[in-house]
Amino acid sequence: MTTMASRGGARKTERVFNYSAGPGTLPEPVLRQAQNDLWDLFGTGIGICEHSHRGPAFDRVTEEAEADCRAVGSIPDNYKVLFLQGGASTQFFMVPANFLPQDRTADYFVTGNWSKKAYKEAPLYGTAHVAASSEEEQFSYIPKGNAIGYSDNPVYVHFATNNTIFGTQMKDVPEIPDGAFRVGDTSSDMYSRPIDVTKYGLIYAGAQKNLGPSGTVLVIVREDLLDKPARELPSMLRYALHAEKGSRYNTPPAFGIYLMGQVFKWILGEGGLEAVQERNERKAKLIYDQIDAGDFYRGTARAEDRSLMNITFRMPSEEIEKRFISEAEKQGMDGLKGYRSVGGVRASIYNAFPEAGCEALAGFMKDFAQKNG
Ligand SMILES: *Cc1c(COP(=O)(O)O)cnc(C)c1O
Repeated sequence: MTTMASRGGARKTERVFNYSAGPGTLPEPVLRQAQNDLWDLFGTGIGICEHSHRGPAFDRVTEEAEADCRAVGSIPDNYKVLFLQGGASTQFFMVPANFLPQDRTADYFVTGNWSKKAYKEAPLYGTAHVAASSEEEQFSYIPKGNAIGYSDNPVYVHFATNNTIFGTQMKDVPEIPDGAFRVGDTSSDMYSRPIDVTKYGLIYAGAQKNLGPSGTVLVIVREDLLDKPARELPSMLRYALHAEKGSRYNTPPAFGIYLMGQVFKWILGEGGLEAVQERNERKAKLIYDQIDAGDFYRGTARAEDRSLMNITFRMPSEEIEKRFISEAEKQGMDGLKGYRSVGGVRASIYNAFPEAGCEALAGFMKDFAQKNG
C-alpha cells in the first residue's frame, strides 16, 4: 500500500538500482536539492512549481538552465536553446512541419523503433526517404558507408544517435549531402559524451533519460534555420516563436526546466562531458565484459555499435531470462526487463546511474552464469 507517509514521510535512505530505460535514474544530489526547492526556491518562501513563470525567481532558473546547458555542450551563440513540451515524440512531427516543404524530401535513418516513428511522421508534410535501415537484422547495428543511400537533394537527414530499445549507438555522425542539415534525436544519450553541436541543424532530446523529468524536451537549433519556415503553423508548433519568446510563449514546463538546470549543474560539477563519458565507458565495460566472458550471455548489438547507455542481451532461454530478472529484482536491481516487443534483458545505465550498480549487476551476472550455464 502506498500512503503519503510511506511515499514521503518515512523516506528510505537505501534506493534500489534502477535500470529503467526511461524515465531513468536521476542524480541523487539533484533530487535532494529539488526536494528543498519544491518547498522554498532561493529563500523566496515559494516553491519552484508555484512561482510565476514571468517572475524574477523563474527568470533566474531559466537563465541559469540555459547558460549551464550552453556551458556543458559548448553551444555556439548562433544556436538557440529551447525548452519545449510534448516529449521527444512531438519533435517527430515538429521537425518536418517546420522544415520540410511539401515538394521536398527529408532523409531518415531507420535504426530502431523511435527513429522509425519519426520517419512515419514526415509524409504528413513532404516526402520521406529511408537513407539507411537495419530493420532486416533486428536493428542490431548502425548502417555505415555503402549501406547509406541518400535522396537527390534532402532538406535534412534525421537520425537517432542512440537506439534505446536495441542498444546501439552512433560513434560518429554520418556524412551527409551538401545543402542538407543533420537532425539528431539524442533523447537517450544527450550529454553522456562530448557532442559537436555545430554538426547539427537541430538536436532534440526528451528529458527523461539523461536530463530530467518526462514531458520536457531540450531543443538546440541553428538560428538561420528559423528564418524560413516551410509553412504556416499553429503558434505552439513554431520553433521561431518559441525562440523569440525565450521558451515562454505560454507557461513553460517550469519544473522540468528547473530540474534540467540542476542536472546541467551536476554535469559541470562532475567535470563536464569528457569526465562523464569516461565514467560511462567504465560502467558499460563492467557489464559488456560479463557478456563477452563466455557464451551464456549473447549481446544483441554488434560489438562496434554497442551503446554505453542501454545494454541489451539474451540468455539461452526465455525461462532463464525470466529467472534472471526476478532474482536480480530480489537483490535490489529493478527494471532489467527488455522492451516488451524485444524481450531479453536491458540494462539502462544513464549518466546518473551509479557505478556501484554496474558492479552489482556484473557480479550478479557472473554468479548467475556459473549457476545456470
Ligand atoms: C524515449 C525516446 C523517445 C520518445 O520520447 P517521449 O518523450 O516518450 O516522446 C524518442 N526517441 C528516443 C531515442 C527515445 O529514447
